[in-house]
Amino acid sequence: KLHNTILELKGNIRVFCRVRPIIPDSDSNGIDGAAISYPTCVESVGRGIDLMHNTQKHCFTFDKVFNHEASQEDVFVEISQLVQSALDGYKVCIFAYGQTGSGKTYTMMGKLENLEQKGLIPRSLEQIFETSQSLQCQGWKFKMQASMLEIYNETIRDLLSPSRSHSLEGKQYSIKHDSAGNTTVSDLTIVDVCSIREVSYLLHQAAQSRSVGRTHMNEESSRSHFVFTLRIFGANESTEQQVQGVLNLIDLAGSERLARSGATGDRLKETQAINKSLSALSDVIFALGKKEDHIPFRNSKLTYLLQPCLGGDSKTLMFVNISPEASSAGESISSLRFASRVN
Ligand code: ADP
Ligand code: MG
Repeated sequence: KLHNTILELKGNIRVFCRVRPIIPDSDSNGIDGAAISYPTCVESVGRGIDLMHNTQKHCFTFDKVFNHEASQEDVFVEISQLVQSALDGYKVCIFAYGQTGSGKTYTMMGKLENLEQKGLIPRSLEQIFETSQSLQCQGWKFKMQASMLEIYNETIRDLLSPSRSHSLEGKQYSIKHDSAGNTTVSDLTIVDVCSIREVSYLLHQAAQSRSVGRTHMNEESSRSHFVFTLRIFGANESTEQQVQGVLNLIDLAGSERLARSGATGDRLKETQAINKSLSALSDVIFALGKKEDHIPFRNSKLTYLLQPCLGGDSKTLMFVNISPEASSAGESISSLRFASRVN
């Protein structure tokens, strides 16, 4: 490992909570033309967050809480060291968990065309490319490889496949791990990347592939897990040191519960697959936190795929995204409970 970046006070799993601002309803303007906004049920103080639901107050504590005023930059400042550790040879996973509309995609991807609203993925990549360049004068050379996939109903889809139909027509991608902790997904497109510009192009391509597969479905991206993986290979000519790190950035499927979505048929199957994989993820992180002997990685595609990046000396950060509206209080409590379990 390049540097010994000990970030954590307690193990390698941290949970950050982020509450998005209330988004005024632009269709229903008040008398003076101001948009009407909805009452909030969330209050945050320091690392604590309080939520009112049915006249009851629920209190939670996390490693960090970002309120509605936190900018994308404020959030990135808190994770930049973790991103850095992927260059130092660590395996890193950053997840966004929460109900649909709570700000997962905003946190991870943000608005690519807007400098201030860019999310963690573009900011992390910028930092990695900048740092890797500045390390060149110390004899370091880096090679980076990107892949992007989604997991929908427990099947993998390649978002960078040159022929998009591949990933839509039931092609079975199989996951293999070797003894060195390297993961391969058969037939998955892996692209060498040297600049932020190249990755931005791939991010757009992936966004397009995602929406193409969605024309016959209710909502575009909220029913699948999006996994961005950057593999980093570093070698130092003068010292002959070598490092291999991985950065996984994951925008999880919406966590809303079954009863509320009133699902039947395909929708029911989707929701069950999502529930299964989200509870498998929670079980894995919980077991890792408790340092249990058996970690149930094989219970879902997502946890199996990420297995080498979740155990050992890898680093995991979970964002739990919260919608502040009182109408979402029930879902918010269940998200906060999920996050407290893994914290
Ligand atoms: P999700 O991916 O969890 O379904 P989104 O990221 O799409 O949710 O967020 C829902 C809406 O709220 C989007 O219009 C998004 O731009 C907006 N939004 C989310 N978080 C924030 C934030 N922190 N600041 C401003 N707007 C936000
Ligand atoms: Mg989203």
